[in-house]
This record gives sequence, structure tokens and C-alpha cells, in this order.
Amino acid sequence: MSGHQWVGAALVGMGVGQTRRAEHAARTGRHVLPASTKIKVLEVYCGSCRVRYDAQTQDQECRVTLPRSA
Ligand SMILES: [Zn+2]
Repeated sequence: MSGHQWVGAALVGMGVGQTRRAEHAARTGRHVLPASTKIKVLEVYCGSCRVRYDAQTQDQECRVTLPRSA
């Protein structure tokens, strides 16, 4: 038995107009935030089976079925 792997889908502002952070994030797919930065979490779900976090799913077993690679 294994639990869900919860992840949060979030929005992070990249600035207005030509910004280095936007360019860097688009090019590398990464952006480092200072630890004190607040971000807005849009949704929390299981990264494995994609079930949404709520009172019913938080204690359930993760039923992800990984596709077998040939
Ligand atoms: Zn899961």
C-alpha cells in the first residue's frame, strides 16, 4: 500500500514585458524563488494518479497503474 504523492499546481508571476526571469524560465523550465515568496496554489492533486486532494481521497491508497514499457 502506498499513499498519494501530492503536488500543488501553482502560478508564479514572471513580470511584465521583457524580463530576464521570464526568458530564463521559458528557456530552462526552471525558476528559483526566494524562500519567503508566497505563491498561489490553484489545485492540489496526486502526481501519480491525478486524483484531486480532498477529505475523501487524502487517506486512500494510490491506485496508479504504470504503463509497462516494452
Ligand atoms: Zn495517487
